[in-house]
Amino acid sequence: MVKADVTVVGGGPAGAALAVELGRRGVRVVLYEKARHPRLKPCGEGLLPHGVAALRDIAGVPEAPRVRGLRFVAAGVSVDADFPEGSGLVVRRDRFDAWLFELAAGTPNVDARPGTPYRGSRSRLLVGADGARSMFHRRLPGTVARPLRVGLSTHVAGLERLGDRVEVFFHDDGELYLAPSGGGEALVAGLFDYSRFRPDGVTHLLSAIPELRDRAAHIEPTTPLLASAPLGLHVSRIVDEEDGLILVGGAAGTPDPITGDGMALALASTRSAADAIVSGDLRAYARRRLAMGRTANRLGRLMLRLSRTERRAAWVLRDLSALVPPLIAVAVGRTSLGSATD
Ligand SMILES: Cc1cc2nc3c(=O)[nH]c(=O)nc-3n(C[C@H](O)[C@H](O)[C@H](O)COP(=O)(O)OP(=O)(O)OC[C@H]3O[C@@H](n4cnc5c(N)ncnc54)[C@H](O)[C@@H]3O)c2cc1C
Repeated sequence: MVKADVTVVGGGPAGAALAVELGRRGVRVVLYEKARHPRLKPCGEGLLPHGVAALRDIAGVPEAPRVRGLRFVAAGVSVDADFPEGSGLVVRRDRFDAWLFELAAGTPNVDARPGTPYRGSRSRLLVGADGARSMFHRRLPGTVARPLRVGLSTHVAGLERLGDRVEVFFHDDGELYLAPSGGGEALVAGLFDYSRFRPDGVTHLLSAIPELRDRAAHIEPTTPLLASAPLGLHVSRIVDEEDGLILVGGAAGTPDPITGDGMALALASTRSAADAIVSGDLRAYARRRLAMGRTANRLGRLMLRLSRTERRAAWVLRDLSALVPPLIAVAVGRTSLGSATD
């Protein structure tokens, strides 16, 4: 058997995209994925335009509903905001992750091993792409973000008046995200502070928000309800040059999902990770990726503050709606947070 140059642990979006990029550059990769795709995963499933652009360069763009922006709603006040450039995608994680993993498996120099948990054998370089609860955090520890939050997600049929924007409803008990998933289905996800979490949080919000009571009157779930907690992770060191270890994707830190940026961050930093692996300059990747993560985390904290209560979110949407487009520009990587809030 030919010896690999790089061992990638985790065949989610980050690991699969990196395997494609490395394999195409002639780097021999073993890609371990403990699950067998397609598998469901708790997620808001919105891929922001800069993630779509990065994906286009690496792998092309899969069939998935396009969205042109977001619609924010709080206490009956609503603001529509389009992306400054390009469109986002709503990627059902079972289909999207399977598509990207298949592409990696078919890339020259990639030995993809689905259904194979990583057990410790390794090549010169080891890549931790095993998500926010990475086994490699024993060596490069992460800290959980505050406030502690829980995410729930599912898909439904029969939700009425789905448009071509991701809808975000702010409520005192949590936020609710709706997006078209294709084939008449919708993604429904909720994010909650620990203190306000309830297992029926999604159905509770669907009935507590007046606009949704009618629209959701005849919905039927089409996939199981999935949960994830805690959300948001800071990792201050993401490479160990001596040990030949590098973290990518959620393992390298992930903002609160209120930014909708996790997958885009993973994909937009894939090229930089591949460059570092090929050149051996792991620090260049670490600097770039940590800076991207800091911006996303600051944006997440600001968005959480602005939407702390339904009343505050409604006040922002009504009286400070001029803030919304610059914040979207930060979310899609078009401007820094400092210039957006000047
Ligand atoms: C509730 C919620 C909502 C979200 N909403 C959004 C959103 O709207 N938009 C967005 O962009 N992001 C969102 N995110 C974040 C997004 O899910 C992550 O950023 C993304 O999944 C990171 O991709 P990844 O490939 O790094 O990790 P993952 O997708 O977690 O993939 C890691 C893979 O590694 C595999 N693995 C783990 N351990 C091993 C092992 N020992 N051996 C082999 N394989 C292993 C797992 O099976 C998995 O397939 C959300 C997250 C949550 C929890």
